[in-house]
Amino acid sequence: ASSGAMDTDKLAKGLVEGHLRPLSRAITLIESSNPDHQDYAAKLLDQILPYTGNSVRIGISGVPGVGKSTFIEAFGQLLTAKGHKVAVLAVDPSSQITGGSILGDKTRMEELARDKNAFIRPSPAGSTLGGVAKKTRETMLLCEAAGYDVVLVETVGVGQSEITVASMVDFFMLLQLANAGDELQGIKKGVMEIADAIVINKAEGENRQKAELARGQYMNALHILRPKSKNWTVPVLLASALYNEGVAEVWDMVKDYRGKLTASGEFADKRKKQAVDWLWTMVMDNLKDMFKNSRNVQAMLPQIQEAVVNGTTTPSAASKRLLELFKRY
Ligand code: GDP
Repeated sequence: ASSGAMDTDKLAKGLVEGHLRPLSRAITLIESSNPDHQDYAAKLLDQILPYTGNSVRIGISGVPGVGKSTFIEAFGQLLTAKGHKVAVLAVDPSSQITGGSILGDKTRMEELARDKNAFIRPSPAGSTLGGVAKKTRETMLLCEAAGYDVVLVETVGVGQSEITVASMVDFFMLLQLANAGDELQGIKKGVMEIADAIVINKAEGENRQKAELARGQYMNALHILRPKSKNWTVPVLLASALYNEGVAEVWDMVKDYRGKLTASGEFADKRKKQAVDWLWTMVMDNLKDMFKNSRNVQAMLPQIQEAVVNGTTTPSAASKRLLELFKRY
C-alpha cells in the first residue's frame, strides 16, 4: 500500500486480536466525517463482520440522576470479575442540541474505566439521532470483534433515543426511581412497551418500602400491556447500585432471558429483524440525503416551497413535482 493509503487488513487483524490501539483507531474512523475515512471504515467493517455478534447487547436507560453510571460501574465490575470483557457505549444526541452532553461531561465510572477488561466510549457527536445511532451500532460491532462479550449501551430518556437504543440491543432495561406520589408519571408513554425489565434503583434503607410499592404499581401497569413474548414476563427488580445490592440479580435475569429466548429462537429472530430494520433506516436516511443534495431539487425547492406557503399549490402536488425532478437527476 502507498504511504497515504490505510492498511485496513492490519488494522482488522490487530483489532480481532484484541488490542486496544487498533480498536480506538477503528472507532475514530467510524466517527470521522471524512469521506476517505468512511471508505476505510466500511472496508474494515466488512473485514471484521465474521467476528461480530458474539456478545450480549444490553441497553440501559433512565433519567439523569437515576444512577445509570453508578449502576454500570457496579455491573461492569461484577462482569469483569466473572471473566467477561465489557464495552460501555452511549447514545446521547442531546450534546448537539444543548451544547453540553448529559451523559459525557462529568468523570463517570472511574473504577470501571481503570479495569483493563472494560472499555468505555462516550457518545459519538452527531447532529441527528440517526447519525449517532449508526456510529454506535458500528462501534458495537468493532467491540464484539475485539472480544468484548458484553456490550452495554447507555442512554437518557431524551426524545427518541430510548426507542433507538432498544432497536440495537438484545435486552433493554429501564432504571427508575420510586418517587413519592404518582409513581407512573416517571415513565414515558411508549417506553414501558419496549422495556424487557424495569429496575427500581436506590431501593435501600428508608427507600426500600417505597420501592416495593412502586414495584407493585409497575407490575400492575405491565400486566395491562400485551406481552412481547410468551416466553418472557417483564420483571420489576429492586436494586441499590450505590450499595451494590440487586446488581448480580440483574445479570442472572439477563442470562435467564438469553437462555429462554435462545431456546425459543426469538433471540436470533430479534437480531434478524433489527438488521432488516437497520437496513431500511439506512436506505431512508441515504435517500433523504440524496434528495436534499440533488441539484434539480435544490434549484426548484425555494420556489416550490414558497408556493406551498402561499397556498398556490398543495404539499401533495409539490412533493410530486419535487420527486419528478429528483428522478430526472
Ligand atoms: P446518572 O445520571 O443516571 O448516571 O446517575 P449517577 O450514577 O451519576 O447517580 C446520581 C446520584 O445518585 C449520585 O450522587 C449517586 O451516588 C447516587 N446514586 C446512584 N445509585 C444510588 C443508589 O442505589 N442509592 C443511593 N442512595 N444513591 C445512588
